Amino acid sequence: MKAVRFFGNKEVRVVNDLEKPSPKGDEVLLKIGGAGVCHSDLHVIDEGLVSGVTFTLGHENAGWVEEVGEDVKGYKKGDAVLVYGPWGCGHCKPCQNSNENYCDHHSELAFGGGLGLNGGMADYMLVPSSRLLVPIHDLDPVIAAPLTDAALTPYSAIKRSLHKLMPDEYVVVIGVGGLGHVALQILSEICGSTIIACDITVERLEFAKQLGAKYTVNSTDKDAAEQIKKITGIKKAKVVLDFVGASSTIALGSKIIGLDGDLTIVGLGGGKYDYKVGELPVGVSITNPYWGSRTELMEVIGLALQKKIHIEIEKYSLDQALEVYDKLRQGKIKGRAVLVP
Ligand code: NAD
Ligand code: ZN
Ligand code: ZN
Repeated sequence: MKAVRFFGNKEVRVVNDLEKPSPKGDEVLLKIGGAGVCHSDLHVIDEGLVSGVTFTLGHENAGWVEEVGEDVKGYKKGDAVLVYGPWGCGHCKPCQNSNENYCDHHSELAFGGGLGLNGGMADYMLVPSSRLLVPIHDLDPVIAAPLTDAALTPYSAIKRSLHKLMPDEYVVVIGVGGLGHVALQILSEICGSTIIACDITVERLEFAKQLGAKYTVNSTDKDAAEQIKKITGIKKAKVVLDFVGASSTIALGSKIIGLDGDLTIVGLGGGKYDYKVGELPVGVSITNPYWGSRTELMEVIGLALQKKIHIEIEKYSLDQALEVYDKLRQGKIKGRAVLVP
């Protein structure tokens, strides 16, 4: 079968000679419908976020059940499913609570399929347990694939601050890409706060307005923080969701976050922050959430089934993977690219 393989040392190739796996026990073989292309792949390929192993890329996966191992119950050939991405041990307390993204054994395990283990940029993908599948009913797997990350990650980040996102507050979204463009829609649907979006191009800021941002600010403007404080007034933002995570965006977030606010850094842009007593308003929490839980993925599917969120998708073939990664590097993908075998 065909697959997009990462060989380490920045080397990615499309190969044609992988054997189609056969599921055993609780394993499930999926025929891939779509595999989303996440910016984290670039942190893996270009910056060595995952090293020392060869594997098939693609950690945002959806498809149809092709074949099940002898212990699998409740799934049959043709069922449309999403693959929950952060694969935990399945047994510890966070995993039992469906928070496999915070599995006690996180430091001992690979992150999951497409992040150290074989992922879904291939004709077929072997999922190690039926526990990691979530049915999508009549959603199309091609369109639904990015729900597993581009939607789940912002959903989980927003949910932990939901009690602060009241209608008289301001929330700032930094980075209107794959994750950020879904964050804007989730915020519009599940909270009443006024949304301010930041990005670096006029096109992205216009896109943000279409997705629910009341105000937009170009974060490369020298006075970006002042522009935002002019909008919010003295209270500043209650929640800042940073989908870039560079030093410059973290610095911006720290200037615009208000008292008792949440500065939530989702992006893995390699940023640094120097904490200094007295500089950050009191009560602020800085967090670095990772992905989301299995049950939150079910909630995200609920939003998609009700058409309350949609992913802006650009479809490509597996053979175009390298070209797509280049476009993503250059900031030329609007919404999410999905590879369709
Ligand atoms: P993307 O490339 O689709 O989007 C990034 C967006 O940020 C683009 O619109 C770009 O124009 C914008 N941007 C770049 N620099 C900016 C700046 N200085 N100010 C404002 N906007 C800026 O990326 P994505 O797939 O949405 O991923 C975003 C980040 O989140 C990546 O670092 C990725 O690795 C990370 N991520 C983290 C998790 C997690 O669980 N913590 C999960 C998925 C992705
Ligand atoms: Zn991702
Ligand atoms: Zn666990």
